Amino acid sequence: TERTFSIIKPDATRRNLTGKVNAVIEDAGLRIVAQKRIHMSRAQAERFYEVHKERPFFGELVDFMVSAPVVVQVLEGPNAVARYREVMGATNPAQAAEGTIRKLYAESVGENSVHGSDSQENAKLEIGQFFSEAEIV
Ligand code: ATP
Ligand code: MG
Repeated sequence: TERTFSIIKPDATRRNLTGKVNAVIEDAGLRIVAQKRIHMSRAQAERFYEVHKERPFFGELVDFMVSAPVVVQVLEGPNAVARYREVMGATNPAQAAEGTIRKLYAESVGENSVHGSDSQENAKLEIGQFFSEAEIV
């Protein structure tokens, strides 16, 4: 079994879609083993998206991530990293497959409802930014 890190982003929490997103996650065979609703600080969002700091959309992305509360989660299951990427769908919802979270709920490439780690190494780093091991059950 494997763990990945997930964020239900502000566009989704604003529209009261936390439960609907969680239903897709659980129906896909992933278990939510830690979860909390937080309002990210600008410093937390900048650190989290550090890898994108040279991209033209970085400022817009940070503004968005601090614009409303998010739900941070740890998901567990077989091949959790790859499985969750599949369940989220393509970054741009216009290109996302039927039944994926982004196809169902995302509004645009920026406001795309969810984040999921892109590797096991990043999953560990990202989980460590928001959870202690004792909070993951
Ligand atoms: P995430 O890292 O959030 O799981 P991803 O891996 O599918 O998404 P990345 O390329 O890592 O996509 O981009 C990180 C996030 O930056 C995207 O989820 C999206 O919110 C935002 N983003 C990406 N491309 C654009 C863009 N062209 N314009 C605005 N925002 C963008
Ligand atoms: Mg990414």
